[in-house]
Amino acid sequence: MEYALKCIDCGEEYDNDALYTCPNCGSLLEVKLSPDIEVDFKLDGINLRVWKYASLLPVKIRPISLNEGGTPLFETELGECKVYVKHEGLNPSGSFKDRGMTVGITKAIELGKKAVACASTGNTSASMAMYAAKANLKAYVLLPAGKVALGKVAQALMHGARVIGIKANFDVALDLVRRISEEENFYLLNSVNPFRLEGQKTIAFEIVDELGYVPDRVILPVGNAGNISAIFKGFSELKQFGLIDEIPKMVGVQAEGASPIYKAFKEGKKDITPELRPETIATAIRIGNPVNARKALRAIYDSGGTSITVTDDEITNAQITLATKEGIGVEPASAASVAGFKKLEGEGEIDKDETIVCITTGHLLKDPETVIRICGEPIEVEAELDMIKEVL
Ligand SMILES: *Cc1c(COP(=O)(O)O)cnc(C)c1O
Ligand SMILES: [Zn+2]
Repeated sequence: MEYALKCIDCGEEYDNDALYTCPNCGSLLEVKLSPDIEVDFKLDGINLRVWKYASLLPVKIRPISLNEGGTPLFETELGECKVYVKHEGLNPSGSFKDRGMTVGITKAIELGKKAVACASTGNTSASMAMYAAKANLKAYVLLPAGKVALGKVAQALMHGARVIGIKANFDVALDLVRRISEEENFYLLNSVNPFRLEGQKTIAFEIVDELGYVPDRVILPVGNAGNISAIFKGFSELKQFGLIDEIPKMVGVQAEGASPIYKAFKEGKKDITPELRPETIATAIRIGNPVNARKALRAIYDSGGTSITVTDDEITNAQITLATKEGIGVEPASAASVAGFKKLEGEGEIDKDETIVCITTGHLLKDPETVIRICGEPIEVEAELDMIKEVL
């Protein structure tokens, strides 16, 4: 056995991939790799994609893949220091969720499951539906009705998932889908699933691979808090296997109206108090009871990082800046990373000689309705040259 599932609280280890949480104490599990694993990749900046790093990914069969990963790291003019944007919106389904899903869906096949399920603010369902289609698995999705961006629902539907909107928020949907999955033997692909986070840790691998060194900070939006936990784990493993010496400060950005992690961090706590009515324009991080809170807080504390909040206006301004100054089109949640960077810079927290990586988590086309609300509809005129010239 090259890995075990280890409880982050009681420390119990399990050789049973079908678990999501600790049977002993109910806490979260994480994949603990054997120190004897031989790392067979080089951080040489070439052939970037999730499965380049297969020697640190806990699967036993040939993976179900859609060539995820290998997303560009753009150098930008967003700050006084070096600011890179890693655009995860350029994954196959348009978000970083694909990195987790290629591992999670492969694990579903390994475990002999016939169906997969998730609750979703949108992108998990889009990604899961896509990979389930490729793997020939049935896909079931619970969404908070009316609170999911249009592009994401469209993807889940077209890729053949059974999509059910429920009259409640994401946190309630997740609670329900966990119970349904248990009863119906569906494989649960929310980020409570430790194998999904294994795929997402490759963001850390790629940052070092592309940059050639470890940045000072990695800044990203935090919703259910899986991604920040996964990226921290990726850096930790690079260090464990002797590929890097330092871990960057992990900065978790939350929307002001949905900020349980931020509040717990401010009070120095290890766990959150759930928020019952989370609200923000950034629907992908509109989450009041993040399932991976304990892992995420550990990532922030252990890396010497921080958590901050940004307003919906700050998110929108960052989205516009990315689109109009850098040519990078992202959905609102993604822009929270850049809004968070601007806030830290404004507070004098960031030195001019730092290197920062902001993760933009999802593509602009995910949420066209918000774009129209911000930019308005295109101007319409008669098909006459004079009329067009007048409005140019
Ligand atoms: C899922 C998602 C997030 C939040 O990631 P967590 O792992 O839940 O913290 C942020 N942005 C986008 C675009 C997402 O799809
Ligand atoms: Zn335990």
